Amino acid sequence: MTTTTPALVADGPGAPFIARQVERRTLGADDVSIAISHAGICHSDIHQVREEWGTAIFPMVPGHEIAGVVTAVGDTVTQVKVGDRVGVGCMVDSCGECEMCKDGFEQHCERGAVMTYNGRGYDGEPTLGGYSQSVVVSERFVCPIPEGIGMAEAAPLLCAGVTTYSPLKRWGVGPGTKVGVVGLGGLGHMGVKFAAAMGAEVTVFSRTSAKATDALALGAVEHVATSDPQALRPLRNRFDVVLNTVSADLDMNAYLRTVKPRGVLVNVGLPTGDYALKPGLLVGNSRVFAGSNIGGIPETREMLEFAARHGIGATVEVIDAADVTAAYDKVVAGDVRYRYVIDVSTIRA
Ligand code: NAP
Ligand code: ZN
Repeated sequence: MTTTTPALVADGPGAPFIARQVERRTLGADDVSIAISHAGICHSDIHQVREEWGTAIFPMVPGHEIAGVVTAVGDTVTQVKVGDRVGVGCMVDSCGECEMCKDGFEQHCERGAVMTYNGRGYDGEPTLGGYSQSVVVSERFVCPIPEGIGMAEAAPLLCAGVTTYSPLKRWGVGPGTKVGVVGLGGLGHMGVKFAAAMGAEVTVFSRTSAKATDALALGAVEHVATSDPQALRPLRNRFDVVLNTVSADLDMNAYLRTVKPRGVLVNVGLPTGDYALKPGLLVGNSRVFAGSNIGGIPETREMLEFAARHGIGATVEVIDAADVTAAYDKVVAGDVRYRYVIDVSTIRA
């Protein structure tokens, strides 16, 4: 039997959120039903609600940083049980059979992973995300939240956490590595926490000095205010890894110059414009310009364990459902410290 749940719904591109009931599917044999407590606001939610990435599916319920408690499980579910604290990230299904799925990189599924919202399930039905009070998800895409991480602090780990953990790990960040993190927002602050916990020496690039004290408190050793056009000059060839998390167009060449020979500038930001790269900056110092797309489910589970071991959660501002529309403008202005998380019990519909 399908159920209904209160949710925050945007009816068209850029529309304000309206609280109303939406439907959740009948619990299947491998499904888990989750009572959501918190949902993070990722900048990707804003890009999609505002159709900055192209045509989107409406009505839309965003939310792919989901934390909640299991309320029911299907007959074949073995990995979680009623009462467990769990998270759901950006994906809710994939083919499970292709090379990428078998290797634990479901985000690169050949058939196309089913995204948590603004996607369509393999049955053709639109998916609706975590700005709601319950969700039904295949157990393959449910990740246990370890003891010691609060629910509000855990929710953003399901996207911002794994999106930064994954490239730092892939590019070998560890003790002695020098890492630059560009943009101190939801992703950026997680990048700083993870890189510092991996043993790296972290420099934060932020537009102004407003977040300088925070950058050091999060684990960085240095903060650079990029509003000063000369600020990057002394940092040429400094970093093994630069992680760009900025949500807007940016001069990549300026940051490429800060990468050591054979080092990497890995981009996770998804602005709408193009980046212009000077070939000489890549070739001359054998630098790598890379991208990274969230993380697979095994890596998400590993990241949650790593976070628990190192006492890492997101730094959050918990808000009511009524404040989400206004919060979007604050995120775009860079005015969030460092992730808005919705207390979904405040959604009244
Ligand atoms: P966010 O919280 O808004 O953080 C972005 C940060 O970028 C801001 O805090 C700000 O940092 C900086 N920034 C914003 N506008 C800027 C501008 N005009 N010029 C220079 N810097 C600017 O966003 P988020 O949730 O971390 O997401 C960041 C980006 O990553 C988004 O584009 C999002 O869609 C994308 N994303 C990608 C993946 C993936 O899998 N690759 C996953 C999730 C999100 P300062 O105030 O410190 O300058
Ligand atoms: Zn996200």
